[in-house]
Amino acid sequence: MRPVYLDNNATTRVDPRVVEAMLPFFTEQFGNASSMHSFGSEVGTSLKAARQQIQALLGAAHDHELIFTSGGTESDNAAILSALDTQTGRDEIITSAVEHPAILSLCEYLEKSRGVTVHVIPVDARGLLDIEAYRKALGPKTAVVSMMWANNETGTLFPVEQLAELAHEVGALFHTDAVQAVGKIPIDLKSNTIDMLSLSGHKLHGPKGIGALYVRKGVRFRPLVRGGHQERGRRAGTENTPSIIGLGKAAELALAHMEEEQTRIRALRDRLESGLVQQIGRCFVTGDTRNRLPNTCNIAFEYIEGEAILLLMNKAGIAASSGSACTSGSLEPSHVMRAMKVPYTAAHGSIRFSFSRENDGEDVDRVLDVVPGIIEKLRTLSPFWRKDGEKPAEFNPTYN
Ligand SMILES: *Cc1c(COP(=O)(O)O)cnc(C)c1O
Repeated sequence: MRPVYLDNNATTRVDPRVVEAMLPFFTEQFGNASSMHSFGSEVGTSLKAARQQIQALLGAAHDHELIFTSGGTESDNAAILSALDTQTGRDEIITSAVEHPAILSLCEYLEKSRGVTVHVIPVDARGLLDIEAYRKALGPKTAVVSMMWANNETGTLFPVEQLAELAHEVGALFHTDAVQAVGKIPIDLKSNTIDMLSLSGHKLHGPKGIGALYVRKGVRFRPLVRGGHQERGRRAGTENTPSIIGLGKAAELALAHMEEEQTRIRALRDRLESGLVQQIGRCFVTGDTRNRLPNTCNIAFEYIEGEAILLLMNKAGIAASSGSACTSGSLEPSHVMRAMKVPYTAAHGSIRFSFSRENDGEDVDRVLDVVPGIIEKLRTLSPFWRKDGEKPAEFNPTYN
């Protein structure tokens, strides 16, 4: 039987059309874009075309607002570090409790090593940002605000465009980790004031190890990687040509498919979600269901371990994830579940299903066929369930 891959927020399969676009850049088109001969200039032209494909996906005003990086993590690091360096007299960062480790562990490091003050804004039980706490944290010392556009574990969306406006009222820069949003929901950087935005190739059917940082024209930028004058002096090192071409193609495809895929994927996701919640008692959807990426759902099953669910699902040929890939293997529930104060008994059993344009109705049928049995089996083994399981099978309304 064909395996069911529902872990697309961890990574996606490279689209065959992306691979095809990349291949010539390993062979005939091997030139260095900086070279003064046609091997180089031809590659230079293709790099510019890739930049324009990404520009179109983001609705950016200029292609030179994009800097190619090694991925989402580097883009996030480069944005925060640049802001701290260019915003003289300001040494505070504001971020949220549910950011990716690419932001949170950098902030922790900066707090310890550079004495930077980091304000970590909490979220409510739905995963929505505490706007009052955010307003209070903003001030004349704020160098940069970094708030993710879409959460990788729950799909919950932050109102980044409004958050950017508030940041600008105190003269702070606004960065968003949009790795999970880009290619899934429409983005138009011409119609908002976001200063910097991170994206990653492998979350949108592009290659791994390539990403981009958008830096709005007029925003000062200090490079993270120094050396040659590539990327207009903002990111040194010979361009990763095949991957950049692949990212460009992936961006073009994402834009071309976005409208139809948003609707199709949302319908698949909703059928999976309501099917599981109806068939299985004592489980609930985490995150804000009204304000969410169309491809993501995260369901917390009470009294069982997410790892055990994943293991049995994997045996049945279904791939999903518990918490985030980065935290699996540890015994603590993910920082996102903890930030939403999901009860301990449920946070351990939270499973993320994330779709892509490669999924179809058969995938949903398989999950609905297999997963209820897995949950039931695991619960009969759980001592907590045996004690409490006779109670009515209602999900916790506080979280939905
Ligand atoms: C995957 C991810 C990243 C990291 O991107 P890489 O390209 O893997 O470095 C950062 N932020 C979010 C929200 C992500 O989902």
